[in-house]
Amino acid sequence: MIHIKEELCVYCGACVAVCPVNIIDLIDTHLKIDQPKCIDCMKCVKGCPIGVLSMERNGRIYEFDYPNRGLF
Ligand code: SF4
Ligand code: SF4
Repeated sequence: MIHIKEELCVYCGACVAVCPVNIIDLIDTHLKIDQPKCIDCMKCVKGCPIGVLSMERNGRIYEFDYPNRGLF
């Protein structure tokens, strides 16, 4: 599942644009993800410019490593 640090989000919409299954909605200042439909591609995690999103899978948390761009 995707975790959202909502207090950091700047509502830029980048994650909405990259989701291949269109399950991220940005309504005013609220980000909503239809988690059961998520295909775990992590494009939103990589696409968020400030690291708001992370993914939990098989008990592990995946976050984008910004200093090294692209490494988890
Ligand atoms: S991991 Fe992929 S499918 Fe799931 S919300 Fe993010 S972009 Fe969409
Ligand atoms: S890309 Fe990041 S900052 Fe932009 S709306 Fe999505 S979670 Fe918020």
